[in-house]
Amino acid sequence: MTEPSIDAPLVDRVAMLSVHTSPIAELGGPDSGGMNVYVNELGRWLARTGINVDIFTRRTDTVTPRVLELDDGLRLIQIEAGPPHRIHKDELFCHMPDFASDMAYFALQQGVRYDVVHGHYWLSGWAAQLLKEHWHAPTVHMYHTMAHLKNAVANGEHRETILRLQIERRLVDIADGLVAANPHERKEMIDRLGASPDQIHLVPPGVDLELFQPHDQQQARAELGLPDGPLVLFVGRIDPVKGIDTLFDGFKRLCESRDWDGQPPTLLFIGGTIDEDRGESGMDEDLRQVKADAEALGIEDRIMFLGSISREVLPLYYSAADVCTVPSRYESFGLVAVEAMACGTPIVASRVGGLQFTIQDQQSGILVPHSDHVALASGLERALTDEALVRKMTAGARRAAIRYSWQMVSSSVVDVYQQLVDGPVPEPVRIAR
Ligand code: UDP
Repeated sequence: MTEPSIDAPLVDRVAMLSVHTSPIAELGGPDSGGMNVYVNELGRWLARTGINVDIFTRRTDTVTPRVLELDDGLRLIQIEAGPPHRIHKDELFCHMPDFASDMAYFALQQGVRYDVVHGHYWLSGWAAQLLKEHWHAPTVHMYHTMAHLKNAVANGEHRETILRLQIERRLVDIADGLVAANPHERKEMIDRLGASPDQIHLVPPGVDLELFQPHDQQQARAELGLPDGPLVLFVGRIDPVKGIDTLFDGFKRLCESRDWDGQPPTLLFIGGTIDEDRGESGMDEDLRQVKADAEALGIEDRIMFLGSISREVLPLYYSAADVCTVPSRYESFGLVAVEAMACGTPIVASRVGGLQFTIQDQQSGILVPHSDHVALASGLERALTDEALVRKMTAGARRAAIRYSWQMVSSSVVDVYQQLVDGPVPEPVRIAR
């Protein structure tokens, strides 16, 4: 890796690409979760250090202005590529050349060039490579999720495409820097995608430690109108990798495991979207299906389906809960786990992806095998009943989360940019094989 030199030009302007989903999209939908939060927060923190950040996303409506100022030094740019409405992300690849040309056109109009192009997710990674020729700027890529890992745990219907698998492999050859969120992802990049260890920078995700703070549990419950008794919290997109089936089987078993002194646990389910004006009939299709699954198991009256909850209110939910659970089959970041931990809430999570590094078993949470509802139920039961362990995990959770402050994370990202800017001018890429 090149050492930064003292007289090197400082990174002044960064183009960040988030093609398939906007950093300001409502969270909890099928394509809006950790990556949106990450791009938004990273942009804000980079802008605070004085770097000008433009985030480029595909236009999916006709009303959002072309340029939206999100913060001092942080702009969100709508890019014309494909129809101006939502289409499935598998249909977006053919629009990437248009995406890259409209970005180049925007830069020309504004009279700016970018020092670094940072792509998030495989589609953006590809568009970033197309732009390299315009700006001769180094590219940084973050996968967020990898197709081969999702496929390893997917059932037949939800497999990722061959095209995505191929592009993810190709990005290793053409991106100047790769950011891995944890050692597991780094190893996958080397072993499965053929990346060189020198290309990879290990930078974990960040959490907003000012927002995600412990609140008094009883006050939080009162403020949110939540019931008494044990509360288990789930926060996440409705996606097969999130293990919602395991959660429901495990939760049913938990409820039946003892008599709970007449007050069995309640599951707070945050995810999916609900049109408030239409009440329950305003649930999106995925959430309706999830609710039907709960009904089939006979546990629907123990679950509160809350839809999407804004980030400002989430700390109250984390604090109100006795335990937060992340039963995913695969999890690249696992931001929810770190947010819960920052609020001092113990976690019961699958031992997969990033979760096995953010959570220390029996110290800041409990790790269980994925897709194992029996192990999940027993982990949840311990987190609700073993008082000594709960005390230890509550203190351990907040201590562990402090390692992920955005201040530290964003400064590591700036170091990555600077190293790349200090390195040799990148060659234009020959995209075709
Ligand atoms: N989130 C939110 N409101 C919701 C649902 C989710 O703010 O209703 C946020 C959550 O707080 C977290 C992110 O969405 O910051 C989900 O990130 P995670 O890494 O856990 O999962 P991913 O979506 O990346 O699979």
